[in-house]
Amino acid sequence: MEKHEIIIVGGGASGVYLSLLLADYGKDVLLLESKDRILKKLLTTGNGRCNITNETVMDKISDMYTSENSAYDFSPLREYDLEDTLNYFSSLGLNLTTLEDHKMYPHSLQSSSVVDLLRLSLEEKEVHLNLNEKVTDVKKKGKTFLVTTTVSQYACDKLVISSGGMAAPGTGSDGSMYKILRGLGHHIITPMPSLVQMKLSHPSLKALSGVKINGTAALLMNEAVLRTEEGELLFTDYGISGPPILQLSRFLHPHLQEGKGLLLSLDFFPEKSAEEVKEIILNHAALFSYRSSMDVFKSLLPSKLIPVLLRESGLERPSTVIGEVEPIHLIRLAQLLKEWTFPVTGTQGFNMAQGTYGGVDTKEVRSTLESKKVQDLYLTGEVLDVLGACGGFNLQWAWSTAGTVMKALTGQMDDR
Ligand SMILES: Cc1cc2nc3c(=O)[nH]c(=O)nc-3n(C[C@H](O)[C@H](O)[C@H](O)COP(=O)(O)OP(=O)(O)OC[C@H]3O[C@@H](n4cnc5c(N)ncnc54)[C@H](O)[C@@H]3O)c2cc1C
Repeated sequence: MEKHEIIIVGGGASGVYLSLLLADYGKDVLLLESKDRILKKLLTTGNGRCNITNETVMDKISDMYTSENSAYDFSPLREYDLEDTLNYFSSLGLNLTTLEDHKMYPHSLQSSSVVDLLRLSLEEKEVHLNLNEKVTDVKKKGKTFLVTTTVSQYACDKLVISSGGMAAPGTGSDGSMYKILRGLGHHIITPMPSLVQMKLSHPSLKALSGVKINGTAALLMNEAVLRTEEGELLFTDYGISGPPILQLSRFLHPHLQEGKGLLLSLDFFPEKSAEEVKEIILNHAALFSYRSSMDVFKSLLPSKLIPVLLRESGLERPSTVIGEVEPIHLIRLAQLLKEWTFPVTGTQGFNMAQGTYGGVDTKEVRSTLESKKVQDLYLTGEVLDVLGACGGFNLQWAWSTAGTVMKALTGQMDDR
């Protein structure tokens, strides 16, 4: 049976990065990937531009990362930090640039250049890579791991699971390793889609579909605000999308399982008070009292949104001349512009998700990311129950966890 010092399961962001780091120390590594190519997900990141990390990550750890284990300190992000990551990418020849919201990208603004560079580096460092080999079983006999794949069986002294979560399963991260990890004694926090569009309940979603508008979105559970985000909102026929919605979806769990009481409240005039918005609406109506209600508000709101909001305000015919509309409807309209609330009924699922909520319980790993259940078993990246915000935070988690495991496997860290 072929034996290696270290086997890494998963040729995604964290598995490939770790293979390169270990190759620099002359470690004998076999990287096993179920797909016909490595880094399939990385290719799709950042809308094809690969938002590799975020300049502010070290200042924002507690705000930008969540784990079901609320006591978890995300120590890998400090153990192998942003500076270590930037230095290593620079040593591989990758130049980065910083764009909006401190997001860092390859200078080419093409994720393919990051994938090509990582693939080239694997070749240069002569890492053993087996494609089209899915790991189907792991057993430990004495100090040796026996790793069965769809093609063969291997032995190793140290095993690293870098198999990702369940978001975008078509890229390979299909959750198949969770079952194997359960078999090894790990508790898996139920994986759920995150960084994903939300399904809403409202009779006018079809009519609203395609409307884009800036504003804030607040996620509420039993009337308590869980989180508020600002940016471009996009209505769809199933509900709502846009950057603030993906960010808010991090906080849907576990409330979504409870089913009821989860609301999304939209504010289309976040910079104005409710009183100011009321004044704007009443003044507009008075100034253009001869125009139809539809036409009066065209300078304030996207056209497709107006008839829906007018009906929601109790006005049966949006074509009514505004001078004939009772003030109560205008006041209600102003209220809706500040606080339009929808029940959240679900998400668009793993196929559309950019992240996974849940995974291996962080209580079950040491600061080296070695399993507390199985000696010499390590975990990196999204397979762990850690979820970062959109903006480069999840890839930084992949790089930092890989860097931490590299330190553990090269004797630079000990936590037994
Ligand atoms: C559309 C999209 C856009 C994103 N954009 C960004 C972004 O711009 N910035 C950011 O920070 N994050 C982004 N993310 C998240 C980020 O890509 C992931 O968090 C990151 O890739 C996780 O790295 P990983 O190594 O844990 O897993 P992955 O990169 O998912 O890699 C896991 C690998 O393991 C392999 N594998 C799984 N099971 C097995 C098995 N049984 N046997 C063998 N191999 C197996 C898979 O085929 C896969 O190649 C995005 C995600 C998506 C889906």
